[in-house]
Amino acid sequence: MKNPPFCPNPHCSYHTDAGRPSHWFIRKGFYATHSGNRYQRYQCSHCQRRFSSKTFHIDYFAKVTLDYHRLLTYLVSGMSLRALGRAFHRSPKTIAGKISILTRQFIAFNHDNPSVVNLAEDLVADGFESYVVSQYFPNNFNLLIGKDSQFVYDLTYAYLRRKGAMTDAQKKLAVRYRVTDPLPAGQIQVSFTHLLRTAAGLLRVSSRKTLLILHTDEKKEYVAPLAGYASAGLPDPLPLRILHRQTPSSVPRTGTNPLFPANYIDRDIRKDMAEHHRETVCFARNVNASLERLTCYLFHHNFIKAFRINRADRTFSSHAVAAGLDARFIRKRLAFLFTRRAFFTRLSLPLPGELLWRRGYFTPRKAFCDCLPAYVLA
Ligand SMILES: [Zn+2]
Repeated sequence: MKNPPFCPNPHCSYHTDAGRPSHWFIRKGFYATHSGNRYQRYQCSHCQRRFSSKTFHIDYFAKVTLDYHRLLTYLVSGMSLRALGRAFHRSPKTIAGKISILTRQFIAFNHDNPSVVNLAEDLVADGFESYVVSQYFPNNFNLLIGKDSQFVYDLTYAYLRRKGAMTDAQKKLAVRYRVTDPLPAGQIQVSFTHLLRTAAGLLRVSSRKTLLILHTDEKKEYVAPLAGYASAGLPDPLPLRILHRQTPSSVPRTGTNPLFPANYIDRDIRKDMAEHHRETVCFARNVNASLERLTCYLFHHNFIKAFRINRADRTFSSHAVAAGLDARFIRKRLAFLFTRRAFFTRLSLPLPGELLWRRGYFTPRKAFCDCLPAYVLA
């Protein structure tokens, strides 16, 4: 890094890009670490805050470094946290910390996507069901997916209660958990409302004049948010521009099924992620950690994995390019993704993104909230 990009002090006027002069910092020598690396020190000429080139590095405050490319590749190839620990000769806790760092990088990377996508395709919304802690705490990872590109535009989380056949002992335990671990109600509706808000945001910046068709299954929770758009805080013209089309789950899951993109992603997540395999012993123990791993998976799916269709002309290099994002723009941003640290205070994240960044989702059966280092919120 030749020059620091901005002042790291969130309260300084040089923290944002607007109105910062070209010579806003002073060089203040170097410092060396025990590993032999030398880092340039700086001082902000406005707030006098001292910092170094390491402040902007992805491994700021870290004693252990890993190959993030390799970590992401292994993570999306079915390796569990402990298997990753064995592969990198590090503890599972260190690996989990690195996945948290990667997740924050990806949240920042995705932050600008809605403003650069010109939505030309229809959308599919669906919930991928798994569980955290035990099968008494199932969940839904709700996804908003491009019908043609299979690009995942958004991800939200919903806490659910265990349903289906249970023995008498299991029923008793389920009732006990209802008292000891209450969950917020109407979570699927809340999640779906957020996905609708994302769809509305995409429509607002798109040049399309035709109706947007939103495909879902026949869950009754999906009907109310669109019908009661005003009470849900959604933009007024939404029902006039979005046509909600529901497909029964009994329809064969072939390529012609309107819910094919959701079925396709669900199958891939199920086979590629250790915690979502059937009858796995690697199930998630923490909601935030589970969401972080899925965020990493979806980033890999969107921007790195090749587009699904085996096209002879190789038109689309990734699902993001198939969705209309510029390949050169993506390449340019990917160049700094695994080296330059993203700053929370320079982003304006929607609630689910902010909650994930702060590790603010609660985990059932866990008394205390997650801890995170102070610099994460700077
Ligand atoms: Zn400053």
